[in-house]
Amino acid sequence: MAGKITSILIANRGEIALRVIRGCKELGIKSIAIYSDEDVRAIHVKRADEAYHIGAAAPAQSYLNMAKIIETAKAAGADAIHPGYGFLSENENFPELCDKNGMIFIGPTAKAMEVTGDKIKCKEVMTKAKVPTVPGSDGIIEDVDKAADVAHKAGYPVLLKSAFGGGGRGIRLANNEKELRQEFEMASAESRAAFGKAALYVEKYLQRIRHIEFQLIRDSHGNGRHLFERECSIQRRHQKLIEMSPSPVVDQKTRAHIGEIAVRAAAAVDYLNAGTAEFLRDQEGNFYFIEINSRLQVEHPVTELVTGLDLVKLQVAVAQGEEIPFKQEDLKMNGCAIECRINAEDPFYDFAPSVGPVPTCNIPYGPGIRVDTYLYPGCTVSGYYDSLVAKMLAWGSNFEEARVRTKNALDEFSIEGINTTIPLYKTIMDDPNFIKGELSTDYLDRFKIFDKMNEDAKARAKDKASAAVAAVLMQSEFVKKGASQDALARSKWKMRGSTI
Ligand code: ADP
Ligand code: ADP
Ligand code: MG
Repeated sequence: MAGKITSILIANRGEIALRVIRGCKELGIKSIAIYSDEDVRAIHVKRADEAYHIGAAAPAQSYLNMAKIIETAKAAGADAIHPGYGFLSENENFPELCDKNGMIFIGPTAKAMEVTGDKIKCKEVMTKAKVPTVPGSDGIIEDVDKAADVAHKAGYPVLLKSAFGGGGRGIRLANNEKELRQEFEMASAESRAAFGKAALYVEKYLQRIRHIEFQLIRDSHGNGRHLFERECSIQRRHQKLIEMSPSPVVDQKTRAHIGEIAVRAAAAVDYLNAGTAEFLRDQEGNFYFIEINSRLQVEHPVTELVTGLDLVKLQVAVAQGEEIPFKQEDLKMNGCAIECRINAEDPFYDFAPSVGPVPTCNIPYGPGIRVDTYLYPGCTVSGYYDSLVAKMLAWGSNFEEARVRTKNALDEFSIEGINTTIPLYKTIMDDPNFIKGELSTDYLDRFKIFDKMNEDAKARAKDKASAAVAAVLMQSEFVKKGASQDALARSKWKMRGSTI
């Protein structure tokens, strides 16, 4: 049985490392950070109680270097390891290695991870547990003729997916047999490069669907709860951009029903700790299970805002063998939360990565605003790691309040030196389809959001130009009237303060 955790090594970086450090501080647990050459000046290094350098910038030599991380954790006397998300969080060898070295891994067991990490295996288990899944091939497809056969039966369009995919990688669309044959080769190569194995399968491509997922927590005593849903339909390249709770299409009855299926799915793989059951919902309201993410999710704060729970603290409690301290019926959903993933990418140029120094930034705050970020004035956004630089969340007593708070906070948010996805979110917050809750995974294309964003940007640039002209005119008025230097300085400050 697990003992009480007194120190945690955080095998991650960026905002999620900070998130876990904050949890540690609240619990009176010693936090131990690790960092690469690239992160010497990173904020998680400063905030942790202790920090250890573990290697070069490339992830393979630092945040993915299991042996080095374990060695560091042992030397520092850590009794648990929190993997965050990405990196080693879903590597089933890691919990085993922690265990062998007498440390608690804060997450599921290696065995559960092995099943959830293999989407095919997981789908098989779900079918047995009577959890509905997307129609497609029964297992891995080795050759392209077999793939064509399955696709023909399922009906085009289909998706080729890698059993080991993640983060939107390893998914390819085929509209007909010719495309399928081409894509099969590409998808195999891509999957082998990313995950070391091809292991492709075919799934019917569901159209105009929503991505709706359920937050789960399960303890070592077999208690499982769901913490309601998050709607994550606004995506690009099968990756989430905006997440919210509640979903505009999930009522109490559906929530209870699908939530119960999600808890059943977790039990079927003997899941432990926090995780997420992801579903696709078609226009008729049918839900299809797609996968379980066996980690703390990027978008977990959305759930924290509407449930009032602290998922990191819950994770620690479960990891040290405690029972979940609430029953399903004790949980209440309060208000609405929206999260925008602020990525260091240029939405005007197909989300091209944008890295480098951030000389200054202004992080929004105010009623209902929460920003999880590693940004600070003078920091640097590295090209070595994930593009997520901040998660901006707004809570409101209802969707409209959360939306308006998001919109205003986005206006306050400035990050100099790099391009970010902020302009895209500003456009979305004003989009009538978003306001109506008319969402689907093809939302950006379907409603021509990029065209709108370009128009908005032009209008803002025009506004800014006329504001600048006005300011110059004002200045000359000051000079004419013999205004004091002080007033001039103030007007200049105002000019600089105006942002797009
Ligand atoms: P979530 O499901 O919480 O939205 P993602 O699926 O976007 O999270 O993954 C979280 C982060 O982990 C991503 O930002 C991505 O960089 C990383 N990640 C997840 N799966 C993989 C993978 N298979 N290969 C590389 N990176 C991954
Ligand atoms: P990952 O492991 O990369 O997160 P998922 O299986 O969770 O992969 O799918 C990621 C996204 O891809 C979904 O949110 C959805 O937008 C899209 N997708 C996945 N499967 C299907 C499908 N069968 N039909 C249509 N879209 C799908
Ligand atoms: Mg997924």
